[in-house]
Amino acid sequence: MRDEIVRAITADGWVKAVAITGTGIVERARQIHKTLPMATAALGRALCAASMMGNMQKTEDGSVSLQFRGGGPLGKILAVSDWKGNVRGCVDHPQVSLLEKYRGKLDVGAAVGKDGTLTVIRDLRMKEPYIGTIPLVSGEIAEDVTQYFAQSEQTPTVCALGVLVERDQSVRCAGGYLVQLLPGAPENVISKIEAGIAKVDSVTEMMSRGLDAGAILEAVLEELEPKLLEREPVEYRCNCSRERVEGMLISLGKAELEDVLQKGEDLSVSCQFCDTPYVFTPGDVEKLLHGLSEQEQEQ
Ligand SMILES: [Zn+2]
Repeated sequence: MRDEIVRAITADGWVKAVAITGTGIVERARQIHKTLPMATAALGRALCAASMMGNMQKTEDGSVSLQFRGGGPLGKILAVSDWKGNVRGCVDHPQVSLLEKYRGKLDVGAAVGKDGTLTVIRDLRMKEPYIGTIPLVSGEIAEDVTQYFAQSEQTPTVCALGVLVERDQSVRCAGGYLVQLLPGAPENVISKIEAGIAKVDSVTEMMSRGLDAGAILEAVLEELEPKLLEREPVEYRCNCSRERVEGMLISLGKAELEDVLQKGEDLSVSCQFCDTPYVFTPGDVEKLLHGLSEQEQEQ
């Protein structure tokens, strides 16, 4: 099943929805960060949520970042989506050992923790980004995203996410959906959504049966006659470059760079999202410093 996002609107126009199949995305994240199953599940859920939110935002060249800080053993989880839904992410401690609610069921909430916050940063290509922070509900990611929409954006939302890990620790399937009510939606629409969600299996069960993103939305919204709209491919994608890393080094400031230069060794910086190494020789660092002092003179 390929990684893609499908959007839908119901026949009555009160409900918009989006679903993702993101098995490849989460498997790529696992390979880059060498995550064990706990981190694979938590980061995978966050990546799927960010991807859908980025795609829904539809601001050209905008982005959406989700930061989970729950105080659990995984540490901070970060997932960033571009405006199409291509995502990247990282987790502080990718190799936390297994925590299970019961045999075979990962306890993501315990690994993320719930004594903390979810912060959503929406870059809408305006002067300032929109930033919303809520206290975590459970650390299970989907519930926290649902709560974020209710509390911070006043949009009634249902979010479901799932990551299923194989015995060999690879990702068998990963995906999710988001259903949102438009303002003024009548009660009976809400009850139809609730009934639909109660009736369907979990995301990973549906995916295991071969349902793709469109079929998942059709199942969840069956009674509301969903009309499927765009179907767009998404992938794990990092946008790092040598220029960006240079910018980050410059932002460290003159003193810090002079320290590096003093050591006389190559400086190797790895991208936090894709692990690509960028190496700067003392000559390179000197050039950066030179650029920095020229900037200062201009000011
Ligand atoms: Zn990168």
